[in-house]
Amino acid sequence: MEKMVMMEKIELREHILRMQAALVQAKIAEEKGEVPIGAVMVEVNSGEMVAHAFNRRRLPPFDPCGHAEILAMRESCEKVVHDWRLNSYLLYVTLEPCPMCLAAMVQARVGGLIFGAYDKKGGALSLGYALHRDSRLNHRFPVLGGIYELECAGVLRDFFKKRRSMDSFHMEILRS
Ligand SMILES: [Zn+2]
Repeated sequence: MEKMVMMEKIELREHILRMQAALVQAKIAEEKGEVPIGAVMVEVNSGEMVAHAFNRRRLPPFDPCGHAEILAMRESCEKVVHDWRLNSYLLYVTLEPCPMCLAAMVQARVGGLIFGAYDKKGGALSLGYALHRDSRLNHRFPVLGGIYELECAGVLRDFFKKRRSMDSFHMEILRS
């Protein structure tokens, strides 16, 4: 069996710094009218951040799979790793990944996943799809959730709050 990345050796301070970088990406997404979710890819030995991405389904090319995690994996493979395997890379994302993204991480053989806020309605783990430790699949990896959770969740909550008030504003206009 392949060697698991030892995530417990990484200090919490380090995880938070990387999550803050992912959150910067989330804020860029928000400025573009996207749902604020950001991701960064980190090489486990050097600690180098090799790719940054944000959610972009609403922006051209309107990719239904354009989640931050998928885009961070694609960028890492294409521009840095020049391979489809990401065994020595850790993916940091501000929100718990959906089942598609978690499955893609299995495909990409990621070394580990660290996420910020939990997503009770759409997150793979929250919904019971623990694909990262399914022994029927050919790759397993460690997952750490709830890192910098309040901050990551706060950005999303504020975004949806703003949008709801915007929607009710539009409704007012329609009614008048
Ligand atoms: Zn996803």
